[in-house]
Amino acid sequence: MSRSRPDKRKRRPATVLGRAGRNPHENRGAVNPPVYHASTILFRDTADLRTRGPNRLDDVVYGRFGTPTTFAFEEAMADAEGGARSVAVGSGKTAVAVALSSFLAAGDHLLMVDSAYGPTRGLAGGWLARFGVETTFYDPCIGAGIAGQIRDNTRVVFLESPGSHTFEVQDVPGIAAAAHARDCTVILDNTWASPLFFRPFEHGVDVSIQSATKYVSGHSDVMLGAVTTTEETHVVVRKTAQALGATVGPDDLYLGLRGLRTLDVRLRRHMETGLALGDYVGKCRTLDSFGTLL
Ligand SMILES: *Cc1c(COP(=O)(O)O)cnc(C)c1O
Repeated sequence: MSRSRPDKRKRRPATVLGRAGRNPHENRGAVNPPVYHASTILFRDTADLRTRGPNRLDDVVYGRFGTPTTFAFEEAMADAEGGARSVAVGSGKTAVAVALSSFLAAGDHLLMVDSAYGPTRGLAGGWLARFGVETTFYDPCIGAGIAGQIRDNTRVVFLESPGSHTFEVQDVPGIAAAAHARDCTVILDNTWASPLFFRPFEHGVDVSIQSATKYVSGHSDVMLGAVTTTEETHVVVRKTAQALGATVGPDDLYLGLRGLRTLDVRLRRHMETGLALGDYVGKCRTLDSFGTLL
């Protein structure tokens, strides 16, 4: 146990981003975690194999199940999102697929927000339908009124806030309370807000998705996703990712970790530019004059 490390929950989010997933003194003092390129893992002897071998949920036993680089990124994402655990996957789309298929089975009903990212909608209406899951798309502004849409076989309420690309901001706590009252799992795609501008686990979310391809990595050079969970929802998500063979290459994980370090400064500048641009557009009398000014 560390003696002097302050409680992580008391750190400011920007401080968390600077430190998350780092463990220098386990890596000869190197600030960043090493990039492990690994598939086969060797065991010292059969006793070692018997102890570590079956523990594929949390240990380094085969490259596909994760290396120390994977676990560093996962720890960092869990800290960033304010969740308990995180599972790294190869894209945001995989994160959506893993999250949904962790909690749905044939005969179940899914409530998905109408403003969800296009390929997420496609997954629900197409792929999940093939496996016998029925989806209803609901109004992003429905709030606690979601209660009226929940059926006996509704298992998941899926949110995306702000939504693609119309940017409705959902009443996450209101929807989560109504969903939990009927034993539904609440999954939020938190990509647009990023872990900095919305803290999902403080508002009743059970599972939070990041397309780390976007703000987290930040430089348009990697595809990466993370499914962050509570302690209770972690195991089923981990097992689903492993069942599907979802895995991530170590260099991509490293870029994800590296991106997290500058997320705070990049997003502040992004917001400044966005507001200035909005102001500028607001001053143009018509969209036509906006066009000529460009
Ligand atoms: C881009 C995006 C995704 C999908 O992520 P990829 O990494 O491109 O697969 C999911 N949700 C939202 C809100 C996105 O913007």
